[in-house]
Amino acid sequence: MINKQTLLTSLLLLLYVAAFAQFDLNHQSNNLFIKPNVRQQILIPDITGYHTLKGDFHIHTIFSDGSVWPTVRVEEAWREGLDVIAITDHLEYQPHKDYTVADNNTAYKLAQRKAEEMNVILVKGTEITKGEVPPGHFNAIFIDDANPIENKDASLSIEAAVKQGAFIIWNHPGWKRQQPDTTKWWDYYTTLKSKNMLHGIEVANSNEWYPIAIDWCIDKDLTVFSNSDIHAPVNLKYNLSERHAHRPITLIFAREKSMQSVKEALFEGRTIAWHGHTLAGKESIMRELVKASIQLKPTFRETQKKGTTWYYAELNNISDIPFVLRDKDGNEIDLKPLSSVIVKFDKKTAALNYKVMNAFIGSERRLEINITPQ
Ligand SMILES: [Zn+2]
Ligand SMILES: [Zn+2]
Repeated sequence: MINKQTLLTSLLLLLYVAAFAQFDLNHQSNNLFIKPNVRQQILIPDITGYHTLKGDFHIHTIFSDGSVWPTVRVEEAWREGLDVIAITDHLEYQPHKDYTVADNNTAYKLAQRKAEEMNVILVKGTEITKGEVPPGHFNAIFIDDANPIENKDASLSIEAAVKQGAFIIWNHPGWKRQQPDTTKWWDYYTTLKSKNMLHGIEVANSNEWYPIAIDWCIDKDLTVFSNSDIHAPVNLKYNLSERHAHRPITLIFAREKSMQSVKEALFEGRTIAWHGHTLAGKESIMRELVKASIQLKPTFRETQKKGTTWYYAELNNISDIPFVLRDKDGNEIDLKPLSSVIVKFDKKTAALNYKVMNAFIGSERRLEINITPQ
């Protein structure tokens, strides 16, 4: 009879031989250092009647002064959890033109199939690039053909884009190279607006944001944007390895995830600029977003102390956006993404009042919210 140890040894030997028999000496894979092909989820709740989509409407490729191939822009966006992007190469500034013999629609054409495969909405766009302000730089998005938009005269360029049904954004209004001493609204933009040739403004661009531009968006009914204006690979510019890190993002509140719904949302002004930890936008939509993100759970404890009844409840942030809440006494609550804090209050029926310190609804105005305990 074979003892147990002999059986085990024989089995191990058999396995060893079997493993070596299959071990290919010519080719082995080692995927330890390969980045998995996964999409990061950006968790931001929908608001009543609308889906919350994440977009970037200002991106460059090698077809102007960027250093990235168009399909890579789509992959970057997909990995980061974006739903919609616009590639907006300069019409007037194409330093690689000797090597990219092509027309102004090529970047879009090259990226289109990849966008369809990855379910990223790719909006056709271009940047109209005039040095000084005014006119400055504009993104024309939802265009059909970039070629007839090219024109020495900025107004004629914009007019040609608008004829195609384009949405026009005034880019980086406070870029110091264009407005060194101030961020000013000029009559030129009033004229454009009156002709329905200006629809939105970048409140944030790259690592800059312009608080004064929030007032313009509100006073003049223009759509707010936070765009990256990325030229380099996204990983070289932004430290995306940290959880909750993201490029500048425009949140779009759309009826559904489709090109037409995004266009409708932009023309109806349903956006919020999300830049670092800062949010900027119109009060009504900001209120909806904060209301959907922050929830007060039912009171879980009551306690008596010196004649006062104290109530305890959990304040829950279900989104990837951090919120800094300031109460009427000036105490601040740092409500981090996907986390909760316990709040204590002395009247169960009264609403909890907070100023949301990172939610701007004007250059100096922050959103104020009331949350009623249950
Ligand atoms: Zn520009
Ligand atoms: Zn640009």
